Amino acid sequence: MSRQRASILRELGLGPLWRLRQQPATAAVQEPIAEPETCGAAGAAASAVVDIADDRRAEIIARMDWPELETAVADCQACALCHGRKQAVLGVGDVQADWLFVGEGPGAEEDERGEPFVGQAGKLLDAMLAAIDLRRGDNVYIANAVKCRPPGNRTPEVAETTACWPYLERQIALLKPKIIVALGRPAAQTLLRSEVKISAARGRLFEFHGIPLIVTYHPAYLLRNLPDKAKAWEDLCFMRRTMRTL
Ligand code: URA
Ligand code: SF4
Repeated sequence: MSRQRASILRELGLGPLWRLRQQPATAAVQEPIAEPETCGAAGAAASAVVDIADDRRAEIIARMDWPELETAVADCQACALCHGRKQAVLGVGDVQADWLFVGEGPGAEEDERGEPFVGQAGKLLDAMLAAIDLRRGDNVYIANAVKCRPPGNRTPEVAETTACWPYLERQIALLKPKIIVALGRPAAQTLLRSEVKISAARGRLFEFHGIPLIVTYHPAYLLRNLPDKAKAWEDLCFMRRTMRTL
């Protein structure tokens, strides 16, 4: 292990365990805060748990470059999702991309392959991208709200999207995309830090730290609700129109 990596891991409190001490305010998402989760060897003595304040951890992540992010996510034990993953999935694509698409979290195939949106929903996402002349990896970056697969593909909990947020935040800071597209509710709520209903939020222009943000249905939802594909098409047109003004 390189000294730099060792020092990052040490700073993150990995090796010994660390746990979330406090949830950052996620306005309007008023779910009970889960018991602090620790991850790692079962039965780890409480004394092995090192508290690192969230903001200290966020500060460290906020200084990472891409390789450091890759390593930190691969080794992350910041929430319970680390238990069930085969591998963490940071994201894929062009790090100079104008477009950032954010999904929910890896599914079984993504967990297996280490790349977001490679299953059925991914095929539909690729088709949606193609509809507006975009291609995965070419001016497009794809990430998820959580980097580790939720068991049984359940929706990630707020504690999990909150624990994972510093990574996505850093990805956005490094990418500086011109536009962000939130695919589905968990991604929209994570980015907008408020309760979101896709049917009400689609067609509106939001902002994430000055970056235009558009919300649309998640491709996995569209696979189950084919009639809403027409609305997704409208959303794609809205995205393209918006991008042309940027
Ligand atoms: N669904 C998501 O939200 N993300 C993926 O990477 C795959 C499926
Ligand atoms: Fe860490 Fe995110 Fe994976 Fe949780 S989901 S263990 S915060 S990388």
